[in-house]
Amino acid sequence: MNFPKLFTPLDLGHVTLPNRILMGSMHTGLEDKAGDYDKLAAYFAERARGGVGLMVTGGIAPSIQGWLKPFGGRLTMPWHKPRHRKLTRAVHAEGGRICLQILHAGRYGYHPLSVAPSSIKSPITPFTPRALSSQGVERTIGDFVRCARLARDAGYDGVEVMGSEGYLINQFIAARTNQRNDAWGGDATRRMRLPVEIVRRTREAVGRDFIIIYRLSMLDLIEGGQDWSEIVTLARAVEAAGASIINTGIGWHEARVPTIVTSVPRAGFAWVTKKLKGEVAIPLIATNRINMPEVAERILADAEADMVSMARPLLADPQWPNKARAGRSELINTCIACNQACLDHVFQNRRASCLVNPRACHETELKIEPAGVRKRIVVIGAGPAGMACASTLGQRGHTVTLIDRAAEIGGQFNYAKQIPGKEEFHETLRYFRHRLSEQGVDVQLGRTADTASLRAEGYDEVVIATGITPRTVSFPGSDDPRVLSYIDVLARHCRVGANVAIIGAGGIGFDVAEYLVEHEPSSTTDIARWTREWGVDMQLAQRGGLQPAQPEPPARKIWLLQRSEGRPGARLNKTTGWVHRATLKGKHVQMLGHVVYHRFDDQGLHISIDGASQVLPVDHVVVCAGQEPDRQLADELVAAGVKVHVIGGADLATELDAKRAIAQGTRLASEL
Ligand code: FAD
Ligand code: NAP
Ligand code: SF4
Repeated sequence: MNFPKLFTPLDLGHVTLPNRILMGSMHTGLEDKAGDYDKLAAYFAERARGGVGLMVTGGIAPSIQGWLKPFGGRLTMPWHKPRHRKLTRAVHAEGGRICLQILHAGRYGYHPLSVAPSSIKSPITPFTPRALSSQGVERTIGDFVRCARLARDAGYDGVEVMGSEGYLINQFIAARTNQRNDAWGGDATRRMRLPVEIVRRTREAVGRDFIIIYRLSMLDLIEGGQDWSEIVTLARAVEAAGASIINTGIGWHEARVPTIVTSVPRAGFAWVTKKLKGEVAIPLIATNRINMPEVAERILADAEADMVSMARPLLADPQWPNKARAGRSELINTCIACNQACLDHVFQNRRASCLVNPRACHETELKIEPAGVRKRIVVIGAGPAGMACASTLGQRGHTVTLIDRAAEIGGQFNYAKQIPGKEEFHETLRYFRHRLSEQGVDVQLGRTADTASLRAEGYDEVVIATGITPRTVSFPGSDDPRVLSYIDVLARHCRVGANVAIIGAGGIGFDVAEYLVEHEPSSTTDIARWTREWGVDMQLAQRGGLQPAQPEPPARKIWLLQRSEGRPGARLNKTTGWVHRATLKGKHVQMLGHVVYHRFDDQGLHISIDGASQVLPVDHVVVCAGQEPDRQLADELVAAGVKVHVIGGADLATELDAKRAIAQGTRLASEL
């Protein structure tokens, strides 16, 4: 049997889960409108078909005060039940199980009705919450219980009580946010009374044959968080109050330690869950950066937890459990923890999706169906756009040829995979290698496509995915051999000196800076070293699990430059940009804006900022100044009268990323 621990059933008394895989809660944006519940039902049904043991919905508020944002999803009235029944029926029809997550946002609520234990504004929301009265606390417990009862009526298999990530329950537990001196605040016992009462009264209301997962904050990662003895006491109390399972919560949203981005080592927090093993008898779930079956199996085999939670990995590949069980891990479309289409979208009030799987949350709209007419199609360029297009065309039954002049598939992902903390990009390349083969795509590497041969081969459709060329810069000395492009550094591995200026502070400039400051590229997979660098106390001797960060000294002195005014990195993605900025700050990278480039010579790079000149004493300059579409082949083919479809960077280089490239390739393939 493949992954025997992962596929061992879990007996919860009244129900047996078929395996140890939980799809953790993820807000998709579809929860918030009644009209979107058919789409949400299709999304969950697809994952139930994929074989996951148990799923948890995105956070649903038990009251208006508990909303995450105005008019967010809630289950507070009997007339809300029919929309939820759509989800539970769709999941049960596929043999799956689903719990509703009850989430009261407390002071994280992005609206003026928010409430909290004390009237203290959070650093990440503009609204100051109203402090709940004692009666208000009682009413809030009643709201949780009513929500759980309605969830049961709507057919859910259970609920998850969200007690972590800095939401209302966490705010009651931590002295930092709970300054009350009544029955719900003061000492630790009174601060943790709210979650214990919620679980106890919920269990009374729903009976024994209903799952209650309690999401326990096991590592707050904020000053004034809980200490370990308080966490153990709370775990035992929620068990005694009637919880069926304890799930792990890591870090409040306002924490300044990354918890799920791609540079967090795989299973980087499973050691926290392990610490709680033996303290309670109910099953424990490990979470965060678990994305492949080997990692999940190891956690279970080492008895670090009884179940594993994966949220984004099931967004990326709904068939993850079935593929693992069948021993086809090589075909898993691995979540690379980029956050670009999931969390970043949610923060922009857009529907979530997935960079590597654009069908996620669009299951009813982006359908991959067998082709009506089977055609011979050529795709030129095996970057993300071309790989996605060719493999989807193959899936639909077309006869597909994929040509790339490079010796390997992947395009720019072959540069990205070398950046420290982007090791997961190797997985996308592995996935496409196997998927292209599975779909019978004829992959021709080391071949530069040209107009004459393409015309001679007479394809029914021609797709151009030739990507980009890096933008060059022009100033005196810019033709010096010591002025390199990012391709010289990442592909040709040119030697780079101890002092370096990087021109351009976009995504690639930041990545190249991270590459150049690091001594050993593989260091980001070492959990002990990573926790030291970010100031996480693995002994949990300190409140909140924090200790002073100890970044290792940089391998080089770097200046990261941009012409525009303001802070470099301000345009990086919402949920990951701060991690990149903090990493480079820890490595003493000088980030300068409003720079004018004058010349490069033996003294270094001559620049001025607001009229003040200076010379940066650098050995090399690396140019990361953006990209231009490579349309040469497309233009030649069009001039020769061949109809072409142009996708990815070849279509538009401005604000190009792999999310757009893969989505555009997949969409085109679904239509041809
Ligand atoms: P490309 O990846 O450029 O692929 C084009 C392919 O076409 C190449 O393989 C090329 O060899 C081939 N080709 C060109 N002409 C011909 C021809 N005539 N015949 C045969 N083959 C030809 N994006 C993100 O979303 N997230 C990230 O974190 C991220 N990190 C990055 C880090 C780095 C260091 C770099 C360089 C890029 C990063 N990107 C990231 C950007 C992302 O890789 C690109 O947006 C994406 O690769 C564009 O895909 P594409 O298929 O359009 O083109
Ligand atoms: P980019 O993000 O557009 O950044 C280009 C940088 O070059 C900017 O800092 C720009 O700033 C500067 N620049 C532009 N024209 C210039 C010129 N003529 N001379 C000097 N400087 C110039 O592009 P990129 O860094 O090349 O990245 C390409 C794409 O890959 C981006 O769309 C990005 O989203 C994607 N990517 C994403 C990630 C990620 O982690 N999500 C990582 C890497 C790449 P000024 O104009 O102010 O100088
Ligand atoms: Fe994972 Fe990125 Fe997809 Fe989100 S968008 S599920 S982080 S691969």
